[in-house]
Amino acid sequence: MESQISSSLVNYFRRGIYKWKKQFGLRNFPWRNTDNKYEIFIAEFLLRRTQSIMVANFWDEFFGRFPNFDSIREVKEEELEKVLVPLGLSKIRARSLKKLVTEFEGEDLPKTEKDLANLHGVGTYISRMYLQMTSTKRRLVWDSNFIRVYSRFFGVSLNTNKAGIETIEDISSRIIPSRNSKEFILTVLDFSAATCRPQSPLCLECALRNKCKFYQKRD
Ligand code: SF4
Repeated sequence: MESQISSSLVNYFRRGIYKWKKQFGLRNFPWRNTDNKYEIFIAEFLLRRTQSIMVANFWDEFFGRFPNFDSIREVKEEELEKVLVPLGLSKIRARSLKKLVTEFEGEDLPKTEKDLANLHGVGTYISRMYLQMTSTKRRLVWDSNFIRVYSRFFGVSLNTNKAGIETIEDISSRIIPSRNSKEFILTVLDFSAATCRPQSPLCLECALRNKCKFYQKRD
């Protein structure tokens, strides 16, 4: 992997990502403009398998009704399910949320990445993203969007079996900078949604195309 991903290529990737941010800017979502840890955590929980815009449109309704973890503990699961209908997967989400809030007390979420990830329905991505959004310490955040971007640009095959995960962790640790890691991660995420999108990536407007392996192999 070291031979495939040189430091100069990593630097080029980072510069291209910052150039993209300067050109297009970051999306403005409510969970990116709050210090409320409860809201940030719940937003990340709801964002899984859901378009960001749907969660943004649902924001006031949900947090107006459920301002803290205790309010979720107090409501009946069937009632929570009804509120979650606009987001889809309402039964699964309601059950998960109700179970999750029984695993800690009050409003204080577990502090460590591991303890957070072990909460019902949370896992590594939500745990890391939540911690990244609420502190300046670098977290190796990745999901299928990051994998798609890294695979295309660096021309590496990445999958999520055990060996694949080690490779993704290794790549993430080389790419995500220690300084301003939150900004970098949000930029890669928005870049993956707007430009290096799953279908028909917009390579011609991409600041990374000159060294992108995927672009070089296109007809
Ligand atoms: S050139 Fe295309 S495939 Fe490569 S990083 Fe940019 S959008 Fe993605």
